[in-house]
Amino acid sequence: MDGTFSENDLSRVVAADKAHIWHHLSQHKPYETTDPRIIVEGKGMKVWDQNGKEHLDAVSGAVWTVNVGYGRESIANAVRDQLLKLNYFAGSAGSIPGAIFAERLIEKMPGMTRLYYTNSGSEANEKAFKMVRQIAHKRYGGKKHKILYRDRDYHGTTIGCLSAGGQDQRNAQYGPFAPGFVRVPHCLEYRGFEQEGAPTDHYGEWAADQIEAVILREGPDTVGALCLEPVTAGGGVIVPPEGYWQRVQEICRKYDILLHIDEVVCGVGRTGTWFGYQHYGVEPDMVTMAKGVASGYAAIACLVTTEAVFDLFKSDASDPLDYFRDISTFGGCTAGPAAALENMRIIEDEDLLGNTLAMGDYMLDGLGGLMEKHKVIGQVRGKGLFLGAELVTDRDSRAPMAEKQVQAVVADCMAQGVIIGATNRSVPGYNNTLCFSPALIARKDDIDHILSAVDGALTRVFG
Ligand code: PMP
Repeated sequence: MDGTFSENDLSRVVAADKAHIWHHLSQHKPYETTDPRIIVEGKGMKVWDQNGKEHLDAVSGAVWTVNVGYGRESIANAVRDQLLKLNYFAGSAGSIPGAIFAERLIEKMPGMTRLYYTNSGSEANEKAFKMVRQIAHKRYGGKKHKILYRDRDYHGTTIGCLSAGGQDQRNAQYGPFAPGFVRVPHCLEYRGFEQEGAPTDHYGEWAADQIEAVILREGPDTVGALCLEPVTAGGGVIVPPEGYWQRVQEICRKYDILLHIDEVVCGVGRTGTWFGYQHYGVEPDMVTMAKGVASGYAAIACLVTTEAVFDLFKSDASDPLDYFRDISTFGGCTAGPAAALENMRIIEDEDLLGNTLAMGDYMLDGLGGLMEKHKVIGQVRGKGLFLGAELVTDRDSRAPMAEKQVQAVVADCMAQGVIIGATNRSVPGYNNTLCFSPALIARKDDIDHILSAVDGALTRVFG
């Protein structure tokens, strides 16, 4: 394309996009005959595309990120002011917003003391995996190096994170993976009947005991960490069953296994508490977070640890291998913590945690109402404003609805101007859950609007 063009010349923007952009998560063949969607503007819970069409965003920027909503001037101003003062410095140096945000965040995480800055959820998880490996070398002659991860959980897109990936469709064709990652079973009670030996009562304890069985099989002296999502996101919006987390904690303590909780989705308010694990009284050793930390106003992710983990890397010795020899170039960007600080102030001043709990209950009730009307909904579940509706062909057999039909519901909502999500292309055979994660500012009328779009879509797709 010749010359420059204005951002207002949207047909040329679309042409440039079609010529040069390799979109995330996309098969590009259809773009030979259709245009990709370009999101031009956002305000509150709404976004507008290149055709001027308005959408109500029920998934906070496609992947549950924009927790405080679009168009927040105060975050833009905080970032602008900070960039003009100092945009960046990395290496071993700290920064003013970096230190202040660390103190504010850690106030919300009793038991935790140290924050390591990175710039994506995958990277934060990689750092945690590296810490586990280094601790194994420092303390256990390299032996206690295995990292357990769970079926259906997702921890990121790098080869290390895919090695800890419980969603086989995301992993297919990217192996071979890193050694030393071991899978444990999922804890989706609704599908417990498909797991051999699962009881109908006390499923939560049983599901946790399956982790212990894997530890015993592998040898507890080889297992360094267990990495879990507090509420599994893309693997099916899996709310952990009663009794599960308490037992998981006991098992980790019993075998001296570090508990790494991946709060990349749940962290910073999504479930109505600062962190998902705080619903369950768990005390993790490492917590990673990304999406909601700055609601997408800047790329920032954090790995937070206890002082006990931190102390393992501290020594007076002159051993050049003794510290965490890791860096993140853009962990030195100050825009991230500047945006994160203002994001946190908004959540507190507007009581968005309280709103999330109230609106989460309201939406779960509403989904329950849809379930009465539409027999294709097998189960609705959620925590705060993080909800799912699992679609089945038959309630008795719980046979999962085909992905194509689930996607037809998503497409119908999109045509109505409401963006919802689904667990697509992740767990083979089980890409059958509609996902909702509206911004934490959602009001009853927004929820009603989303529910009415889903109602209409289910009626049109399934009759
Ligand atoms: N963990 C979880 C639970 C996630 O959902 C994601 C992203 N969807 C990641 C990690 C990876 O984060 P990122 O895409 O920022 O690397």
